[in-house]
Amino acid sequence: MNLNAKSLLECDRSHIWHPYSAIGSGHSPYLVESASGVRLKLDNGQELIDGMASWWCVIHGYNHPELNQAVTTQLNSMAHVMFGGLTHAPAIELASKLVDITPEPLQSVFFSDSGSVSVEVAMKMAIQYWHDKGHPTRQHFVTLRSGYHGDTFGAMSVCDPITGMHTLFADTLSKQFFVEAPQRGYGEQCSDEDMRPLREILQHHGDHIAGLILEPIVQGAGGMRFYSPDYLRRAHELCKQYDVLLIADEVATGFGRTGKLFACEHSGISPDIMCVGKALTGGYLSLAATLTTEAISHTISQGNPGVFMHGPTFMANPLACSVANRSIDLLLESDWQNNINRLQQGLERGLAPCRELSQVKEVRVLGAIGVVEMKQAVDMKKITQEFVESGVWVRPFGRLVYLMPPYIIDDKDLTQLTSAVVNVVKRQVESKL
Ligand SMILES: *Cc1c(COP(=O)(O)O)cnc(C)c1O
Repeated sequence: MNLNAKSLLECDRSHIWHPYSAIGSGHSPYLVESASGVRLKLDNGQELIDGMASWWCVIHGYNHPELNQAVTTQLNSMAHVMFGGLTHAPAIELASKLVDITPEPLQSVFFSDSGSVSVEVAMKMAIQYWHDKGHPTRQHFVTLRSGYHGDTFGAMSVCDPITGMHTLFADTLSKQFFVEAPQRGYGEQCSDEDMRPLREILQHHGDHIAGLILEPIVQGAGGMRFYSPDYLRRAHELCKQYDVLLIADEVATGFGRTGKLFACEHSGISPDIMCVGKALTGGYLSLAATLTTEAISHTISQGNPGVFMHGPTFMANPLACSVANRSIDLLLESDWQNNINRLQQGLERGLAPCRELSQVKEVRVLGAIGVVEMKQAVDMKKITQEFVESGVWVRPFGRLVYLMPPYIIDDKDLTQLTSAVVNVVKRQVESKL
């Protein structure tokens, strides 16, 4: 390690929070110098194959010439301009693309800076809608256990109460209604009995519920669980029956990751409100959007106060919108469905040997997501180091070792990635015996 890297890391350790980290307890992030394609280059020259797509985002790989071009072209005309009273082509183009590619009834777009904020916006939309419909008591939400919707207070209130550490913020968090996470896996059917917990809450508390918020089909950071499309279809029916809005948080699942452009398509349903983020800009800049129907946007616009009460400073940032436009075009111009199939098969084949290991509880793959669920929590620091020594970037949490590589990864790199997972997981087994 050169001197410069050493002092940078010292400064990092002393002053900087990382996601869910402590300061001063010897955390040791790896210093990245650059990234290109599916490779991260560390300051010591080592290259790692990226298995994380920087948390669902980097679908086209790093340092992509066309995405770089989209940013620099936009940069030369304007980096930013306020969105209050002004508008611009990149935002208009992006809004119309999003309206085109999401389910038909979603026609109105609200841009924000991050997935968490897009969830806050969705929740506020639902509450304002019911307020304007003459149901001011509908201010709460029902959601699924094991969910994750972001780290701001509204979003946090609908995250799983245990993994989301609700006790810590108990007096500040809004009280919401929780139903058990769907028990039927992908491809399984649900019975009326499976839907009972949700149905009962809607029956008994419908007057206080503005919406059901969930991650369609794949629950991400709350446990990397895949569940039955039949559950989502039936949940959608229950929402209609009890007159509750359905909010689909597609922040992680959007843009092809699960094998459909949006995970709602697995169930053939259209939510009343949809959040997108993460892969929206191909991982270049922070941008998210909340889409809703005209019925909802018109009700809010004709109600009291007659405006939707939210307006981020960096709303619809032109650089972010421009790169999002290019990223969506790249995805749609590619043969993405076959490509995600290829990744699904590669992950399935590559991770299959983990099924035989005594330390592994389950291996599951859907689209370009591969999960090895261990029986016991891993030592995150140690296992990350083992992955780095194997030449790959994989960052497990709890009992979950998981992969969601950039879509451009080729078969050879994917095999190297999955082999590294098999070998490292195997070592966890051996060291336990
Ligand atoms: C990551 C994530 C969020 C939060 O997005 P941020 O950009 O981190 O604020 C919300 N919902 C889901 C499903 C996510 O995966």
